[in-house]
Amino acid sequence: MAPTTTPTRAHTQTAPAAEAPMTAAPWRDEPEGRSFRRLPVTTLLSGGELSIPLHVVTGRHPGPTLGIITNQHGDEFLPTMVIRHWLATLDTSALRGRVAVISVGNPLATAACQRLTPEPHGRTDLHEAFPGNARGNTTQMMAAVITESFLDHIDFHCDFHAGGSGGRLQGRVDYNGKAPPDIRERCLAMARAFGQPFVHENDLTGTSAHYVTTKRGIPSCNPEIGGTFLGPDSTATYFEQSFAGLTRLATHLGLIDGDATPPSQVRFDLAGRRELRPRNSGYLESLFERPSDVGRLLPAGTLLGRVVDLYSYAVLEEIVTPFDGYLFFSRYSGTVSAGTQAFALAEAARAIRLD
Ligand SMILES: [Zn+2]
Repeated sequence: MAPTTTPTRAHTQTAPAAEAPMTAAPWRDEPEGRSFRRLPVTTLLSGGELSIPLHVVTGRHPGPTLGIITNQHGDEFLPTMVIRHWLATLDTSALRGRVAVISVGNPLATAACQRLTPEPHGRTDLHEAFPGNARGNTTQMMAAVITESFLDHIDFHCDFHAGGSGGRLQGRVDYNGKAPPDIRERCLAMARAFGQPFVHENDLTGTSAHYVTTKRGIPSCNPEIGGTFLGPDSTATYFEQSFAGLTRLATHLGLIDGDATPPSQVRFDLAGRRELRPRNSGYLESLFERPSDVGRLLPAGTLLGRVVDLYSYAVLEEIVTPFDGYLFFSRYSGTVSAGTQAFALAEAARAIRLD
């Protein structure tokens, strides 16, 4: 899957003048090649040790450091398996700079196959815990290690997510709307380079992206692509899209040669986002279950799905689009709890098409 097009640097970003890191990072000094290490966090009651896995691929030529983290939510497995394949294809003799990857941001949540850390106190969403606290709960301790040993030593950040185990279909790249304007523009450029149908200016307060964009002055993009346990066809589609996105991102940042010209996309922000949540629990019959459904412009009044009562077999409610909008989040048919996000739209009147 190596790029075959004429190299273009028109969209290439240069490494920023980030603040000097507080701690040393030995992996920054490695020669050309590949390495893997575990960053210690703490001990576990099982007798094992909790650590954060770090892969580093160092190129022969000088260049920036792209830091990718995934599985901050423990039920989002697709990105890390894509990254595994993508790292293997990188040619270190041609690579400029290095790629550092935390393959599992939250090992405890991953072991439990759930979104959050299974611990009884404090905030348990790693995605809200940055920059962390070495004397906080386990989630904060993981965040502190990731901050000190990883985030403080990279030049560009990518926090890669997918839909979790609820059969979700997604196809967008978020960026931090609270980043300073100059950084926000660079975040948007990274998000666009990834090449998904949507770029979404989101509130990423508490995330690793918020930390690096506001405290370190480096840009970040947060892909949200595909989902988990989606079946072979959808998984293959999202795998291919994610792989291509990583290649385009690395090209955009100048690590490899290729073409990262952004495709036509739709940009929306929080004001134009509407989540459709069933008022009733039941079985959701989704009418938009294919990857190609994400990105469709749907007229107001379109039936998206219906919630059926498992007990009486009655249709409890129908979910329809409240306005003309782009479907940017959908899900498979399956059980839903009242208040769960079933679909999400970007209002067409507020969305901006980027060509
Ligand atoms: Zn996530």
